[in-house]
Order: sequence, then C-alpha cells, then structure tokens
Amino acid sequence: MNLLERKQSELTARSSSLTLEFVHWKSISESNGIFAKNNSQIRRIIALLETLLKNIPAATPDLAGQRAREQSILTVHSLWDFFRSKLTLRQEEFFGEYLRACDDFAWACYEPLRSLLPVESRREPPLVFLNGGWSPYAVPRNQAFKADPTTGGWTAKMGLQEAVEKLPLAMVGLPWFQVSHLPDTLVIAHEMGHVAESDFGLQDAIQRAIYAANLEPVHGEVWNGWKREVFADLYGVVCGGGSFAGSLADFLAGEALRLKDGASPEGDPHPHPWLRVAIVCEGLRQTGAASEAEVLAAEWHPQSGVVRKDEDFKGDVKSVVEKMLAGPYRVGARQGSLHELIPPPGSAEGMADAIVNQAAILVTNDNRNLIRRQIFAAARRLYEKDPIQYAAKERTKAVLKKVVFAREPGVRGSRDADLKKQAAVDERQGKELAAELF
Ligand SMILES: [Zn+2]
Repeated sequence: MNLLERKQSELTARSSSLTLEFVHWKSISESNGIFAKNNSQIRRIIALLETLLKNIPAATPDLAGQRAREQSILTVHSLWDFFRSKLTLRQEEFFGEYLRACDDFAWACYEPLRSLLPVESRREPPLVFLNGGWSPYAVPRNQAFKADPTTGGWTAKMGLQEAVEKLPLAMVGLPWFQVSHLPDTLVIAHEMGHVAESDFGLQDAIQRAIYAANLEPVHGEVWNGWKREVFADLYGVVCGGGSFAGSLADFLAGEALRLKDGASPEGDPHPHPWLRVAIVCEGLRQTGAASEAEVLAAEWHPQSGVVRKDEDFKGDVKSVVEKMLAGPYRVGARQGSLHELIPPPGSAEGMADAIVNQAAILVTNDNRNLIRRQIFAAARRLYEKDPIQYAAKERTKAVLKKVVFAREPGVRGSRDADLKKQAAVDERQGKELAAELF
C-alpha cells in the first residue's frame, strides 16, 4: 500500500468511526435510554451531520485532495464534538441533575410558542450548557453565545459559532456559578426571550411595539436601542412571574453598585438597572401580579440609595411595557399578546407549600409546562423567603423531586412521525450547510 492509499484508508476509518458513534448515540437516546429527553436534539443534529459527511466533495487523487478531504471530515468532527461535550456532562451525577432540570425549565419557556408552529418549521428543545463567568442578564445577545474553540482545529470557510447557530436547536449558555444554585435558574427565562425572538421571527412585532408606544423622538431612539433586552426581560416576567423579577433584581443590585457613578457603558443595549426593575414591576402589574410588583418596587424606591440614571425615561415605562406585552405576536396560525400565548405562572405560594410539605401535585399533558414554571418560581420564592432555611432544609432536593415528577415520560420534542416530515428539511439544510462549509 503506498502513501496515498494509506492516507485514503485512514480517512475512510475516520469517517466511519463517526458514523459508528452516531449509531451508538441514537440508541442511548431512545425512550428508555439515558438521553431520552435529548432524543430529538441528538437525532436531528446527527441527521444533519450525516448529510454533511455524505456531501463532502470527492477528493482529487493526490495528497492535496486527501488533505482537503481530511479537513472537511475534521470539521464534522469538531461540530459533533461541540455538542457531545455538552451532552456527556449530563452523565455526570452532580451536574447532570441540574442540567436536566435547566433543560426542563428552558423547554417550559419555549414549548408554548413552538407548539404553535407547523411541524416542519419546528426546532428542537434548547440545550443548556455551562460556560465562563458572564450572566445572560448582562451580556448583549450578539456576544452572549460564543462557541468554544474546539480541539483539532477549525478550518471550515464559516466560523464555528455561525455553523452551530444553523443547527436545528438553540444553545443556551449559562455561567457555572449561576446554574449550580437552583433558585437562579430563572435567568434562563430571559435568555429564552432572545431565543424566541429569533426562532419565532418576533423582531418586527417588537419593533412595532416601540413605534406604538408613541414616545417623543429622542426617547424613542433610545428605547429602540434597548428593545431586545426589554423584550427578553418581559418574556422572563411572563414565564417566571414575580420570581423571575426577583432574581433579575437581585442580580441588578450588584450591577447598580458597579455603575455607582450613574453611568452605563456607551451603547449598552440594557436600560439602567433601576429602569429594568421598573420595567419588570410594570410587567408584573400588567399581567395580574400587582402585589408582587409592589413588594419589589418598594425595595427599589427612589430614596433607597439606588443610583438612578435616565430618570426622565420613567414616564415611558408604562406605555412601552403595555405595547411590548400586547404585540400582537403571530406564531404559526395564532396571534396574541405575550401573556395570551404564554400563560404566566401566577402566585408561586401554593407550589411552594406543596414543595415544603411534600404534597402531591397534579400534572397533566395540558398543564405540564405551566406546572414546571411554577416549580422553579416556587424554588425562588422559598429561597427569597429564607435563604438559610432553604439551605438547612435542603429544599433543592425537594424541588428537584417535583421537577422529576413533572417530567414527561419518554422522549421530548419532535416525535417519530414529525421526524419523517422534518427529514426533508434536515437534508436540504445539511446540503446548504455543506456548500457553505466545504
Ligand atoms: Zn439579554
């Protein structure tokens, strides 16, 4: 066997090792496998990567041709590696439990809108992963999601991050420190607001809401720069209610200290911390949680010592929140306000009692995602009420019990019947991606 032939058989082995690994992953994501809840994510990513492998251009019969082919195979390996490293962390006992709970909450914030789309347009449940030390509350969306550099090099024509974003599911990156504490998982609801904006094409409706708020032109321009973060905060309010607002406000208390001279960075897409608290309080008032709004607003009153910048924007809050909540947002065949499309969790008190008393809860297929959001809201409520007792009584364990109880049996996301319809979509997208990558 000469050098060229050896090279050729080496490449065939690399390609088939990936194909064999895919067979293994598909089997462990079946309904009784350890990755059952990631079944549709795994199957659709693999379907796309298999299409990529099939569409690697034929090599010219020389070493240069073999090298080009090798780089293309490595590209597919790198893409898979990006997901595999995040999936395998779920096998680890400590993180696995948290990550599966985070996946549940992300799904509960995503599924109400996803279910309105035709099957062939649906992406799969978002996958939560852990990364470096930033918070989705503070980092603009266009910088929030950074694909890690992978081993083995990335030589495709397109950036890894760009390629990952073309795959049929959203990745939700969370900082390690935030996720290891269950009452902080409410932060996911803000991030899901950004995912919803792009996955359900809500950009125009968000833009229209700013126009409809009828602001004086100078203010309108500033709110226009803040609109995406305002939408994400209100999405969080709708998904997580007062508990989301409380989690955001606690985070912002630190931010407000950091910005104690009153200045926020030039071009910051987030309103000043006190203004964000005013926005979520108004969001609570307008979605039937006025009493929770008043408790929070009282902590952030003008004399509380919190630094306030952009004070003259306060008069705009009511109108901006009203229009931003009202939309209307069209998803699939339905159109409505944000809180019509996603029913808010309401008071978390009842669920908090059920957690403390280990009382039974009723979960059906119709209320499952609402119940899930109530459980996370209740976890936050219990923590806020008494952080010392929360730790001493090991409330996280009781919360996780309820999370597991509310989990649907079998796989999540697209079912076998849907996957057949989606196969054509995946094939087409795989071919398009291959043309861009290789
Ligand atoms: Zn954001």
